[in-house]
Amino acid sequence: MKTLPFHLPDIGNNEINSVLEVLRSGWLTTGAKTHEFEAEFAEAVGADFAVAVNSCTAALHLSLEAIGLKEGDEVITTPYTFASTAEVVEYFNAKPVFVDVNEDDLNINSYKIESIINEKTKAILPVHMAGKAVNLEHVYDIANKYDLFVVEDAAHSFPTTYNGQFIGGHSKMREIPSTACFSFYATKTITTGEGGMICTHDAKIADRCKRMALHGISKNAWNRYSSTGSWFYEIESPGFKYNMTDMAAALGLCQLQKAESMRDRRLEIATLYNEAFSNIEQFRVPPLNIASNDLHSWHLYMLRINPNTLKISRDHFIQQLRELGIGTSVHFIPLHIHPYYKDKYGYNNNDFPVAFNEFQKEISLPIYSSLSDSDIERIIECVIKISKDHAK
Ligand SMILES: *Cc1c(COP(=O)(O)O)cnc(C)c1O
Repeated sequence: MKTLPFHLPDIGNNEINSVLEVLRSGWLTTGAKTHEFEAEFAEAVGADFAVAVNSCTAALHLSLEAIGLKEGDEVITTPYTFASTAEVVEYFNAKPVFVDVNEDDLNINSYKIESIINEKTKAILPVHMAGKAVNLEHVYDIANKYDLFVVEDAAHSFPTTYNGQFIGGHSKMREIPSTACFSFYATKTITTGEGGMICTHDAKIADRCKRMALHGISKNAWNRYSSTGSWFYEIESPGFKYNMTDMAAALGLCQLQKAESMRDRRLEIATLYNEAFSNIEQFRVPPLNIASNDLHSWHLYMLRINPNTLKISRDHFIQQLRELGIGTSVHFIPLHIHPYYKDKYGYNNNDFPVAFNEFQKEISLPIYSSLSDSDIERIIECVIKISKDHAK
């Protein structure tokens, strides 16, 4: 029987032809396609500005640079996330300060944020886990009260809404500039192979990100026909090399067109999984109905096992699924148990007990638009069979 991979990108002829068109055009790097992608993405989420870059990690880094993060500053974030979220804080010799997550949706527990704010706190960096929005109103209320920046790690959350507004459109909610950073990595909800986007309502932040994404120079490579000709530029700051290519942007434009239909399919899959697993005591399913009918992007389907009801561990469960040809993954190994953070800050596993405990139960099942109904049936059958074979 064929193996079902954990993820497959949904790449059709449109994507292939659009990339070929760019290859034939003679202009491969940042140019007209990238601008078009920025404009369409900004419109899709309701942001005033969108800056395309070559990863979400770059987007997060540039955002923190643009808000002026300095050595010794603190940024409040979650331990239940990917490496990028905290490493970008470390780039500045600033400190990522972790706040434990909610047990139900694994998002940052916003009620624990206020008590750790001090004069060093500069920003809050929440992650919309799996594509379910964090309690943004609360996060922004706290940020407003203490004059903090908000940089949203929106790597999972296109298209996700909160109070009817797309993630990426929320910096309107406040005076102090904020950004939302998206990922177009190969496994994300829309992909450009590698890529990212910074969305903001603040012109200065957008401009700073744009310049720093390309060496901190005052003129971009595509601006060839200015009065000084093609050769003139000025370095204003030592920037980075984070710009998006037109090949990637061409992919992104095609993916954007089908983002909604791909999300609809992922919602169908999540619904089928929840129907199949919600009444089985061996499992805990992710919350399907979110507040006020908001959109969940369903980037991940995070199933959790109930260890008291099984004779096998999560790792063994994953092994059994692999033997049946089902690819899975685990999201996420909490940052505070990784050697770097553990050694540097002296963390114990139980310093963030929810993150630590839930990580040990978590299995991410395949959820992507090219899965057929029979693929889903097969995954469900395998998961249920393993749970029955090894029930306590
Ligand atoms: C994938 C991911 C990132 C990084 O995205 P890249 O585009 O690969 O840099 C950041 N944060 C989270 C939560 C992610 O899952």
